[in-house]
Order: sequence, then C-alpha cells, then structure tokens
Amino acid sequence: MNLILMGLPGAGKGTQAEDIVAKYKIPHISTGDIFRAAISNKTDLGLKAKQYIDKGNLVPDDVTCGIVKERLSKDDTKIGYMLDGFPRTIDQANSLEDITSELDNKLDAVINIDVDPDVLVERLSGRFICKNCGATYHKIYKMPKVNDTCDICGGHEFYQRSDDKPETVKNRLDVNIKMNTPLIDFYKQKGLLYTVDGNQNIDDVKKDIDKILQRF
Ligand SMILES: [Zn+2]
Repeated sequence: MNLILMGLPGAGKGTQAEDIVAKYKIPHISTGDIFRAAISNKTDLGLKAKQYIDKGNLVPDDVTCGIVKERLSKDDTKIGYMLDGFPRTIDQANSLEDITSELDNKLDAVINIDVDPDVLVERLSGRFICKNCGATYHKIYKMPKVNDTCDICGGHEFYQRSDDKPETVKNRLDVNIKMNTPLIDFYKQKGLLYTVDGNQNIDDVKKDIDKILQRF
C-alpha cells in the first residue's frame, strides 16, 4: 500500500499518520526525518542538502527528490510506504511519478484530511499561557476550571505567543492552502485522491481512512 497523507496544519495529520503506520506496518516517510537522516549519515545528497539549509536557502528539487528516491529504494518500502510532507509542488509530484515508476512502487492513494480553514484557525489559535507560571490552556480544549484564573497558580494574567495569534495562524494556513490546492487537483485528475472529512472527531476520521485503505 503506497500512500501520500495530506492535510493542513491542525488537520490532525500527525495522529492519523501514527495510526496508519501502526496498523498497516508501513514506514512513515516524512521529509523532515529523511533529510535529517541523510545529513547525519553524511550521504552525498545529505551533504548537498546541508549546504543549502545552512545558508537558509531552499533545497533544490533534484536534491530533495534524490533523497526521497534513496529512501523509497530501501527494502522496508516493499510492503508499502506513507509519504508525509512530499511532494510540495507539481514538479515534485511529477518527479515522484518517475521515481515510483522506476522503482515499481507507484502510488495507490493520496489521502487528504480536509478541514474547514475557519475551524483550523480556531484550533490553532486557541492556545494561551499563564503569565505567572507558564501553564498552557486552550480556548476549545482546555479552559481553566475557574474563568480567568490559572488552575496551577491562581494567576489572572494570560498571553498568546505570536505564533498562536489568529493573524499569524491564518497567514500560515493561506501559504499551505496555496501550496496544497494544485497538488489536490493534480491527484484528483489522476484518480488517486481520497478526501476525508476532517471536521469530524478523531475516531470518525480514523474510521473513514480505514475504509479507504481496506481497498488496497
Ligand atoms: Zn499560572
């Protein structure tokens, strides 16, 4: 079973990814992890990637795709794989098609966990912190037991990290939506796209993903 897992930040991709790899025993190939591995193992491509990363530059596609290809050539992917964080562009998606044709492990499905962006803003911008003791709370998931009072220290003053502010979160989502939309269209046209309603609770999302994966 050869998969790509897609979803915007806050869509619950991490939780579902853990579940899929545990259940189907396929390796979870996240670009962050394979980059770190290639760099620490000092492979040729890893060293090339490091030169760009150290300068704060984007790693060019041929290096990124090379690292993905190296990973997809390993024996543990014979039973399948789940890509996460790759491809990010249509060029990369086309390269992936070439790579998987060559390695004879073409994609079976692209699962996109789809959540209303407004819901994501609420999920991702809900975090706030006690000024006094640093305890973290969330407007939806974890409110203090007594309004405006920290459960731990009784403090009354709270703040939000700039990363957690709705404006910042919205910008981050917009960047991701712009990046994902062409890829979603690309895989829809290929007949590989499966959209899962990520507005549901985690268990229902899990069930829907299972229903799809059981076909493979
Ligand atoms: Zn506190």
